[in-house]
Amino acid sequence: MAPWDYPDFDDHEGVHFFRDAASGLSAIIAIHSTKLGPAAGGCRYWTYAQSGEAITDALRLSRGMSYKNAMAGLPMGGGKAVILADPRRGKTPELLAAFGRAVDSLGGRYVTAEDVGISDADMVEMAKQTRHVSGLPVAGKGDAGGDPGPFTAQGVYLGVKAAVRHGLKRDDMAGVHVAIQGVGSVGGGLARLLARDGARLTLADVDSDRAQALAIELGGEAVPADSILAIAADVVSPCALGAILTAETIAALRTPIVAGGANNQLSTPEDGWRLYARGIVYAPDYVINAGGIINVGLEYLGHGDRAEVEKRIAEIPGRLDQIWAESAASAEPSSIVADRMAQRLIGRG
Ligand code: NAD
Repeated sequence: MAPWDYPDFDDHEGVHFFRDAASGLSAIIAIHSTKLGPAAGGCRYWTYAQSGEAITDALRLSRGMSYKNAMAGLPMGGGKAVILADPRRGKTPELLAAFGRAVDSLGGRYVTAEDVGISDADMVEMAKQTRHVSGLPVAGKGDAGGDPGPFTAQGVYLGVKAAVRHGLKRDDMAGVHVAIQGVGSVGGGLARLLARDGARLTLADVDSDRAQALAIELGGEAVPADSILAIAADVVSPCALGAILTAETIAALRTPIVAGGANNQLSTPEDGWRLYARGIVYAPDYVINAGGIINVGLEYLGHGDRAEVEKRIAEIPGRLDQIWAESAASAEPSSIVADRMAQRLIGRG
């Protein structure tokens, strides 16, 4: 099937396929829009059962980056790369170099960064082949850049507080019960920030030891991964994988707020309506989780220091408030309102 026959194609400007026999690289770079600037979005290293799943993943993530970058006010378009992991060969410096050359061949139309399965050390390998890389270790203390995870966590933390203000009419987080799905870079960072405020934490991860260790450290409770979305809490914060909000999981939610860092949380657009019908406050994922791209985007553009990154991350709550206000006024889900705002910004509204 050609890329444009996929349901998620959505008029991508380009979908590029790369193969390098010597290193074993198979990669896809999807460029959704360059209307606002170079298409920026991370590179995912993942094992896919079929190559069609990798194409769908790249297309969905790439469109999400167009929306995320536009809503974050960055002069950047949206793109995403996936490397189809081959467990027999692994992630070698040769493979990362071949991917770096693939990025370079697009001449700056696509700028890469970390995503699931890719570290800042991997970015250093890629950067030997191309300058169109962000998320590199920072040179100076006050500079933008480096691992986006902590910056994403900071934005999600501010977004969760905004959702609590909006949904529960509470200004402080002491005793507010937050259930976090996935306690890796983003979810773990979020948990630490919330613990400082005295929030009550319930944590889950498929790596149950990881959730248990963090729960002990922060004084929370760890629960099995398959129960976290149905915990009775004030907020559920999805910080693991996408497509976790479905007809079934939404029906089982026992929380008035969903606000977390995972990309593509809604399984389908109808799930936004399902949340809305249940009166659940939802923070659109690509708005609340923009902290990391703000950090690496400003690093790449070369006009940002750490203070500027923090200033822009602090604007996330105001953007969410604007979306919730328009959602109330138009009687539509926040996800639909956010999509419309983003589409207008990239000239597709
Ligand atoms: P990570 O790999 O550091 O952490 C993810 C954690 O989720 C891991 O501990 C993993 O074991 C756990 N997990 C996986 N499946 C799970 C499940 N079904 N139930 C419970 N736990 C599960 O990744 P991360 O960087 O923290 O990213 C988390 C999410 O946030 C991803 O969807 C990612 O695309 C998104 N995101 C990350 C950033 C960033 O800056 N890192 C930015 C924007 C969005």
